[in-house]
Amino acid sequence: MAPGNEKYDVVIIGGAMIGSAIAWFLISNEDFNGTICVIEKDLTFEFASTSRSNSCIRQQYSNELNVQISQYGAEFIRNFKKLIQDDSAPNIILQNFGYLYLSSSKDSEKVFMEDQAMQAGLGAGTRIMSPAEIKSDYPFYNVSDVVCGSHNTLNEGYFDGATVFNWWQKKNKQLGVTVINDEVIGIDTNEQRSLAKRVHLSSGKIVECGVLVNAGGTRAANISRMIGVVLPVEPRRRYSFVFDAANPLDQPLPLTIDPSGVHVRSDGKYYVAGCPPDDDLRVDYDDFELDYDIWENKIWPALFHRIPQFDSLKVVNSWVGHYSYNLFDQNAILGPHPKIANFIFANGFSGHGLQQSPAVGRGISELIIYGEYRGLDLSPLHFNRVIENKPFIERAII
Ligand SMILES: Cc1cc2nc3c(=O)[nH]c(=O)nc-3n(C[C@H](O)[C@H](O)[C@H](O)COP(=O)(O)OP(=O)(O)OC[C@H]3O[C@@H](n4cnc5c(N)ncnc54)[C@H](O)[C@@H]3O)c2cc1C
Repeated sequence: MAPGNEKYDVVIIGGAMIGSAIAWFLISNEDFNGTICVIEKDLTFEFASTSRSNSCIRQQYSNELNVQISQYGAEFIRNFKKLIQDDSAPNIILQNFGYLYLSSSKDSEKVFMEDQAMQAGLGAGTRIMSPAEIKSDYPFYNVSDVVCGSHNTLNEGYFDGATVFNWWQKKNKQLGVTVINDEVIGIDTNEQRSLAKRVHLSSGKIVECGVLVNAGGTRAANISRMIGVVLPVEPRRRYSFVFDAANPLDQPLPLTIDPSGVHVRSDGKYYVAGCPPDDDLRVDYDDFELDYDIWENKIWPALFHRIPQFDSLKVVNSWVGHYSYNLFDQNAILGPHPKIANFIFANGFSGHGLQQSPAVGRGISELIIYGEYRGLDLSPLHFNRVIENKPFIERAII
């Protein structure tokens, strides 16, 4: 090691939800006795996806592995206080209002039924509901154009992801993880390009690494480019509008996934709705401009159609967040690069990284400590699938 350089066994680039989860699962595992450094360029996390998330968790995926990843997420949330090993930690409540996917076509009814069978086989509580059943449970919906719904109220709904994130950060510091507030601007490898050796920071500092983890969120492709690897991840805008209803519903609103592409759910005494832009393209890293027309012309009309009681609404808060969008197949890319064996990806979560953070933190920590996944085999999410053009198929993408 060159004089003046710091060296850590594990260097994690990006200290938001995923980077913090990996650090916590490592540092709290008694089989790990190395050193960890998290390098984070913005410790306010103002623009990180983590701070702009809707913080929901679901079991309703079409791929078994995604269901199992979220089942572990729910188990972690339920047992948070015990697992974090701190008497002053809070219990994290999972508000099980469930996701209600509405279908207006016979084709998607068939897909719903196939997925329900798989989810139920894994222990999820998903049930397919007829329009009459939906109306009976939730009289406020207009079901005139609905063929069926898919709903699950077991381990599915909202959880306080911000509190989980805060505790991971707090415990990481207490347990000895070093956090450097700086930006990684370059990565050196050995001559054979088979190992990442060190990272260069914008301050001029150099940090040497045993293992290097890319947890850079929307900027993950930039980080991979520093090591000569093309990663199909880019920032894409997503809009969230919190609104007050003059005629509020008298029961919690499930996270309703409308056939129009708009989603809406209860948010305390308010509601929160969102949707992707019609032209869903790559945006600049710093482009957080809100499109108010989308509320006026797309979201509000869709809400009024589906829930006629939402005839008088007032937006009380709104924001833009970026998905770290995986262009290839909209799912996480996890594990080591096939040639640069100590460079580990934890990227491309698109819209489901918050709920996946416990399983990903545990899985990546196992890879680092034991050289293999133990709790849940996450290898189908390996980077190799991108090189081999074998997408990880997941039909339920929001
Ligand atoms: C509107 C919206 C709603 C969402 N809703 C949900 C939901 O309901 N459920 C769910 O599970 N997920 C949801 N997500 C997705 C979820 O928020 C993300 O997948 C998750 O937060 C990703 O965490 P991350 O740590 O990978 O990335 P980020 O939170 O983006 O963090 C990456 C960090 O890396 C840092 N960084 C980047 N480059 C460098 C560098 N060169 N040097 C140092 N630091 C660097 C950044 O500053 C940043 O802090 C939503 C996302 C959005 C935008």
